[in-house]
Amino acid sequence: MRLAIPRGVIYHRVLDDLSCLARAVFARLDDESTITAFESTFAAYVGRKHGLAFPSARTAILSALRAKELPAGAEIIMPPITIKPILDVVLACGLVPVFVDLDPETICFDLEKLKQALTPNTKAILITYLFGIVPDMDALMSISRAHGLFVLEDFSQCLNGTFAERKTGSFGDVGIYSSTFIKQLDTYGGGQLVCDDSALFDRLKGFKLVMAPPSRRIVIRKILFDLLMNIATTRWVFGFVVFPLLRLISLLRPERVIRHVDVQPTELLAELPKAWFHRYSSLQAELGLRLLPTVAAGDDARVKHVERIKALLRASQVRFPRGVAGARNVYWQLVTHVHDARRAQRFLHARGIDTSTTSLTHVAALPDSPYRADTPWAKSIHANALVIPAYPGLRDSDVSRIAAALNRSDTDSLL
Ligand SMILES: *Cc1c(COP(=O)(O)O)cnc(C)c1O
Repeated sequence: MRLAIPRGVIYHRVLDDLSCLARAVFARLDDESTITAFESTFAAYVGRKHGLAFPSARTAILSALRAKELPAGAEIIMPPITIKPILDVVLACGLVPVFVDLDPETICFDLEKLKQALTPNTKAILITYLFGIVPDMDALMSISRAHGLFVLEDFSQCLNGTFAERKTGSFGDVGIYSSTFIKQLDTYGGGQLVCDDSALFDRLKGFKLVMAPPSRRIVIRKILFDLLMNIATTRWVFGFVVFPLLRLISLLRPERVIRHVDVQPTELLAELPKAWFHRYSSLQAELGLRLLPTVAAGDDARVKHVERIKALLRASQVRFPRGVAGARNVYWQLVTHVHDARRAQRFLHARGIDTSTTSLTHVAALPDSPYRADTPWAKSIHANALVIPAYPGLRDSDVSRIAAALNRSDTDSLL
C-alpha cells in the first residue's frame, strides 16, 4: 500500500514539539545569556559579526528600516511576492514601495527592470530569495552599491544558499531570516537579524530591548500549531486522514487547498498589532541552538532529492527555474511554473502526491493598496508556481514516484 506524499513538512520531530510544549508551560522565557548565545551562533553561522533575535522577520525589517532613518517618502525596491506584513511595515515607516518584476529563471528581480526602476529617490532594496534560489549576487550587489542603496536581504527561504561560496544573508547591510514554522530552521517564530556594522547593531539592540517581554501564551500557541501540522503530515495520519480530506475539499472548494498553508488576508493594516512586539524567548533560542547544527544535513538531503527528480525527468514538459552559475540553491521549496496549478494539483493528487502553490501574497497587486505595479511574471508565479515535494524526509521510492508522475503529466511548464 502506497501512502500519499504530503506537500510539506515541519522540520522537527513530533517528540521535540511535545517536549517544548511541556517546557513552555513553566520554563523561564527571558534568560538573556541563552538568547545572546543563539544570536552570536546564528550570526557566525551565516558569516556575520552581529546577530539579534527579533520576534519575527517583519519586526526585524521594521527595526532595520527605522534604525537606518530613511527619509519619509524614500523609495524601497520590493519583491512583488512576499508576506503581506512586510508591506505593512514598509508603509508604517513612511516609505514608498516600488515593485520590480521577477526573472522566472531566478525568481528574483529582473535586473534590467531593476535598473529602470531606480530613481534619485530610491534609498533601499529588499532582496528576497524566493523558494531557496540564489540569483546573480555580483550583478545585484553592484547595481545596489552603485546607487548607494541600503541593502536588506530576506533569506527566510534560503538559509545556507551561497553565491561564489558566500552565504545568502551576508551580502547586504543586514540579513533577515524568519525562523517561523515550515522554514528550514523553525523555532516557533523569530526573525534573526545579522549585520556587520557595529553602530547599526547598537541602535537595533535598543529597538529590541524596548519591546514587551516574551509572551508565554503566544509561544504556547505557536508550539501547538507546529505540533498539529507536524502530526497532520506524518505518513499514516496524512495518508489515512488528511489526504482524503484534502481531495474531498479540492472537489468542492479548490481555492481552499491550492495554497501551501492557507489563504492570507490582503487588507493593509492601519496600525501594527501589539501582539507582534513581544521579544523572542530563551526557550526558542535554546531550540535554535539545538537545531542549527542539523540544518545542513536537511539541506543536503533536499538538494539530493531535487537532483534526482531532475535527473529522472525525461525530456519532459516539466522544467524548473534554471538559476545562475556560481550559486548553490537550497530549494527550500522546489517549484515548477505550470500553466494551470489546480489542474496539475488534481493530476498529482490522483497519483497520491500532494502539492500546492505558494502561500505568499502578490503584494504588488493588492486591491486596496495605493502602491500597485504591473508585474506579470510575479502574478503568474503566484498563481501557478507548483511546489513539488522534495523535503528531507522523503524516501527514494517517493522521489521516483514523484518523477514518474511528472513524466506522465500533460501539464507543461510555462518556462
Ligand atoms: C516565511 C517568510 C517570512 C516570515 O516572516 P515573519 O514575519 O517571521 O512571519 C518572511 N519573508 C519570507 C520571504 C518568508 O518566506
